[in-house]
Amino acid sequence: MNWRLAKSLDVLRSQVNDRWPNRKKENDGTIGDAAHSARSSDHNPNGAGVVCALDITNDPATGPDAGFLAETLRQSRDPRIKYLISNKRICSSQVQPWVWRPYSGINDHTHHVHISVGPEAAKYDSIVPWTIERTTATQQPTEAKMQATGGTNAFVWGNWLGAIITALTQFITPDLLTNLLGNKFAWLVPFVTFLINAIGHGTTGNSSTSVLPGITAPMPAVNPPSTV
Ligand SMILES: [Zn+2]
Repeated sequence: MNWRLAKSLDVLRSQVNDRWPNRKKENDGTIGDAAHSARSSDHNPNGAGVVCALDITNDPATGPDAGFLAETLRQSRDPRIKYLISNKRICSSQVQPWVWRPYSGINDHTHHVHISVGPEAAKYDSIVPWTIERTTATQQPTEAKMQATGGTNAFVWGNWLGAIITALTQFITPDLLTNLLGNKFAWLVPFVTFLINAIGHGTTGNSSTSVLPGITAPMPAVNPPSTV
């Protein structure tokens, strides 16, 4: 039977090959084997003879870390993605969109990441380049770290928020606030100063594994003048 790979997946595979020229390919896959053809799978050609699924081998040593690649693709929310499977998890663009859910299929997908595209030809044959890497600025911690911190980005946000608030506490002085707010809102100055300091204290000293800082200091009494 004549079949071909969806053009979008051809592009994806080429990008991965270019990025990791020495990557292992032993668990790569396109068209399904006999076991696949016995069940519904995007590895079987669709009505137009197009295979809309690609498996890419997990190869953290010389190629892509499949779990990391899966997470990068999930974060990209590429509209061509139908679903991703990696490390006993599935993420669909349709069912609970872009949320990892447990996957209990026959294959754990610990040796490769599965990418399904479509179902429309406009999606599966689109040759727009994929996002297969995250830039340094948005680099996420590894999956292990993410799981250790509750599977969220709290780890990163804690660091960022801490840095921003530390910068703010250096920069924002009562004088500056008075200038910014004007005399009309001068009563706000001590309040805002207190708030920034309180948040700053809540953040500094927290380790990199901290979640968002909590404000434990009591709120100041604020008595706005009756003329405001
Ligand atoms: Zn697959």
